[in-house]
Amino acid sequence: MNNNNQSIKYTKVFDIVCGMELDPAKIKGAVEYKRETYYFCSDSCRKHFVEKPERYTV
Ligand SMILES: [Zn+2]
Repeated sequence: MNNNNQSIKYTKVFDIVCGMELDPAKIKGAVEYKRETYYFCSDSCRKHFVEKPERYTV
């Protein structure tokens, strides 16, 4: 029995392209880049990131 309830349910997720806070239910895309996963509000934000990920990550 593992009653360990440490999963984080209210992590804030930001779309780093447009800067908006994302509701997890409204995430339209995710991209894995350098072992991090980035989430986006729309397919167009996702495309911006995919084209130039170095512009949004340091
Ligand atoms: Zn966006």
